[in-house]
Amino acid sequence: MYTSNVSPRQDNVDVLVIGCGNAGLCAAITAAESCCSVMVVDAADKPMRGGNTRHTRNLRVMHESPTDILTDCYGLEEYFDDLMRVTAGATNRKLARLTLKNSSKLVSWLSARGVQFQPPLSGTLNLDRTNAFFLGGGRTMLNRLCRYAEQVNVQFSYQMPVRELLIADGTCRGARLDNGQIIEAGQYVIASGGFEANLEWLAEGWGAAARHFHVRGTRYNTGAVLKSLLDGGAQHVGSVDQCHAVAIDARAPRFDGGIASRIDGVPFGLVVNKHATRFYDEAEDFWPKRYAIWGRLVARQPDQIAFALLDADGVKRFMPSVFDPIEADTIEGLAVKLGLDPAATCDTVKRFNAACPEGPIDPSALDGKATSGLVPEKTNWAAPITTPPFTGYPLRPGITFTYMGVEVNDRAAIIMDDGCPARNLYAAGEVMAGNILGQGYLAGIGMTIGGVFGHIAGTSAAQSHVRS
Ligand SMILES: Cc1cc2nc3c(=O)[nH]c(=O)nc-3n(C[C@H](O)[C@H](O)[C@H](O)COP(=O)(O)OP(=O)(O)OC[C@H]3O[C@@H](n4cnc5c(N)ncnc54)[C@H](O)[C@@H]3O)c2cc1C
Repeated sequence: MYTSNVSPRQDNVDVLVIGCGNAGLCAAITAAESCCSVMVVDAADKPMRGGNTRHTRNLRVMHESPTDILTDCYGLEEYFDDLMRVTAGATNRKLARLTLKNSSKLVSWLSARGVQFQPPLSGTLNLDRTNAFFLGGGRTMLNRLCRYAEQVNVQFSYQMPVRELLIADGTCRGARLDNGQIIEAGQYVIASGGFEANLEWLAEGWGAAARHFHVRGTRYNTGAVLKSLLDGGAQHVGSVDQCHAVAIDARAPRFDGGIASRIDGVPFGLVVNKHATRFYDEAEDFWPKRYAIWGRLVARQPDQIAFALLDADGVKRFMPSVFDPIEADTIEGLAVKLGLDPAATCDTVKRFNAACPEGPIDPSALDGKATSGLVPEKTNWAAPITTPPFTGYPLRPGITFTYMGVEVNDRAAIIMDDGCPARNLYAAGEVMAGNILGQGYLAGIGMTIGGVFGHIAGTSAAQSHVRS
């Protein structure tokens, strides 16, 4: 209920956008271009604005023919099949198709507003056909959108965490800030990301394991606005334990470590838990298809810690993390440096080496060079760990974002418990991505969902403003 003895601020905006990431900016620009007065509030200060968007590199877009930044074509049906495969059907098909179809317009829409893209990427990521890469990365993309937004008179207010929304009967009357002030607007676009930085909330799904999670992105995505929406009667999608999480270097900072702390060496060595025991096939498939399961795997190990062990041949096969590798001339010495039991580690490596097949491995293919007689087996690229110096990386679960959010319709309107859309509340980006991505992940689709739904939310908010 809207009861407060704190006076509303006199902002008089048509549209209030909460969150200055990709989704919020796309919404704000769209509404401002439709002649609405728009304010964007963000919990972060200006240098840290833009949440997880700062860390991104690309978005996944449908296209029917080669372009200057994408090779070949990537049609709607192929994109849809890819999404169905990774989500195992946990998606709202109507909204998914809407997102994928509208993704075809994103590159030109963003380009027209100052965002620049790289020529098609070469190398081993194999994303040149499907993913458009931002020139200068997500930070530059974000700064360019902010600059454009200022040109169309969007106002920005930083260090303004929204604590709650004042919702009654499906209508939002104001956004209360942490300092008690209330901002009133005609329409509200919620683009405040997920709740991955709220370890207490994560513990509802993960139990005590959540205390060892590192948050790869912003500390500001605490889910305060999401919680307020759910308390205010918004319908939720997704479950509290669904998240994207990768294995990162345990030495990474608690927040904002970004992509440089990810450990990609798993398929070329072996991974043990704190008892020096292997627990999963390190080379089940190509790494881009498997890296996103390793955060959850490490989270299920004792004390949520694991260690990747490699030899001098293995370390040449992947891009190192930003941290120096921990090295030793013997496995025993490496175990000591990593805090593992030396005898148990030597035993695990010895048994692994003995189970490896003869001959070289071929990392360019699923080569079937599997161990034999181990539980679990390593099913590809099983090369013995024999060439010093030996290298180790300590691993922690690194959470990228959460999937639980609010349900929306094809106008990005938030659906309330009675099944009806809220009158003046719209959502875009990670806070509603669970409608499309119930589980799993498809590289680049996070930014696509935010861009497409940001645009839809901005359009809907502007249309509702004109009608009201
Ligand atoms: C390391 C990393 C790499 C990634 N790489 C990619 C990639 O290459 N491609 C891709 O598609 N996706 C990628 N993602 C996912 C991508 O970042 C998200 O899908 C996308 O940024 C979500 O955009 P958003 O606008 O919804 O949220 P965000 O960009 O996170 O923005 C949310 C904003 O809301 C603000 N906020 C939060 N709570 C409040 C509050 N209470 N009051 C006011 N403001 C608040 C935050 O400060 C933040 O600025 C990556 C994520 C990470 C962490």
